Amino acid sequence: MCKLCHAKKVIVEHTGIGAVFHPCPNCRSGNDLTPVIQRLEQMLTAGKAGLNARD
Ligand SMILES: [Zn+2]
Repeated sequence: MCKLCHAKKVIVEHTGIGAVFHPCPNCRSGNDLTPVIQRLEQMLTAGKAGLNARD
């Protein structure tokens, strides 16, 4: 198993403003990770929208 991404092929970096997704450099294999990252980002955006709606 990849030690960097734990077979998820995506690395999640937590920052002060939220999480940022990067393709794993160890598992990089073309552009096939893009849909995965886009889906994760959409989930993140949806989560933020839900939080903002409560403010
Ligand atoms: Zn990896």
